[in-house]
Amino acid sequence: MAPMWTFALVRLAGILLLGLFLGLIFGSPWLWVVLAASAYLAWQLSNLYRLDRWLRRRSQLAPPAIGGIWGDIISQVVRLHRRKRFHKQQLVQLFRELRKSTAALPDGVIILSGQREILWFNRPAGRLLGLKRPIDIGLRIDNLIRAPEFAGYLQGEDFSVPLVIRPSIRLDQYLALQLVPYGPGQSLLLARDVTRQMRLEAMRQDFVANASHELRTPLTVISGYLDTLAEDAGLDRAWEGPVRDMRAQAQRMNAIIADLLELSRLESADGEAPREPIDVPAMLERLRTDALSRTEPPRVISLEIATARWLYGAASEVESAFTNLLVNALKYTPVEGSVQMRWWADGDAACFSVIDTGIGIPAEHIPRLTERFYRVDPGRSRDQGGSGLGLAIVKHALQRHGGWLDVESSEGKGSTFTCHFPPQRVYERG
Ligand code: ADP
Repeated sequence: MAPMWTFALVRLAGILLLGLFLGLIFGSPWLWVVLAASAYLAWQLSNLYRLDRWLRRRSQLAPPAIGGIWGDIISQVVRLHRRKRFHKQQLVQLFRELRKSTAALPDGVIILSGQREILWFNRPAGRLLGLKRPIDIGLRIDNLIRAPEFAGYLQGEDFSVPLVIRPSIRLDQYLALQLVPYGPGQSLLLARDVTRQMRLEAMRQDFVANASHELRTPLTVISGYLDTLAEDAGLDRAWEGPVRDMRAQAQRMNAIIADLLELSRLESADGEAPREPIDVPAMLERLRTDALSRTEPPRVISLEIATARWLYGAASEVESAFTNLLVNALKYTPVEGSVQMRWWADGDAACFSVIDTGIGIPAEHIPRLTERFYRVDPGRSRDQGGSGLGLAIVKHALQRHGGWLDVESSEGKGSTFTCHFPPQRVYERG
């Protein structure tokens, strides 16, 4: 037991003994004991009263000067209070710093509740999205940013990539919005002005499209002359080889230009692909017939239609994606190998796979395959007449349909390329 408690008990015993002693001298000893106990109680009550008064008006009054147990309790309260004040000051300081730094950020920051209501936003967010304080605090963000793609983005689950929108308050501006979930249900919405990057990207796309377009006409003329020369029976034998090579190179350039134009058309097409019904099984039958008519196809080219589903989309884009995958499989599979096409249902989604037993792709190359001009073996791709743009076209065409490409491959054994189409694009017939 702490010494002050022993002292307090000894003092109480002393007071009661004093009462008993006085009672023995003056008579009625129990009355004197009760009187002594009452005096002790009154003293403790007065200490309690002083403590209570100080606690209620702590900011104005100095702590009461009481010794013993009461003194110890008072000094503990003072210590606790000081510690609390210190932490509070630190928190307030931290909060001010945070507010100052987020206000100084060039990007907009909005704190959203679990119901997507605005709890707080910094000044750039107000400027970029036209939010006003205090009237917009507490309102749902999707009622203030009315772009339809933003509502879809909020309902989704993948926020790893920002969404680019054109805000209704300034249509010449592009904003990248990204949701960053934190804590239970709460999230941050980051807004960044990406107008400059989007303009540069548009300039790059225009440049590629224009350059390809400009190259097309002279190349058509050159190819025409080369075709005539190749068919000329009177051509000097020494020229036959060079003319054949020149024709092959001109064909390659034509293929690259056609792919570049196709890619820039896909990139510059705004938003999602249209929703025409596409008879995918019939399209795949046609692709197989075309593949079989190639000069040296792999011996087995099979087609499995495991679902009767159709798609909603742009037929030319879907056909271009499927053709690119099939042509690649045929290019990179030896004659004794096999290529299988599969059209199948995955839950409510629909998938198209091209499975080959060709050369396969080393794992480290797979993540980069859809980059423009990326080739695992540039020499081999050129020999096969590849432009290096086929998979970039597939990726863009799928993106415009809300789909994605999945690649599995094992070097020397073969590859499986799968196009996934979301349920919204699936046309369930009859
Ligand atoms: P390319 O015109 O060179 O075929 P793509 O963009 O279509 O360009 O493909 C990129 C690269 O991916 C190719 O150069 C090739 O190395 C590799 N590739 C694509 N499909 C296959 C496949 N089925 N088997 C092996 N490698 C492939």
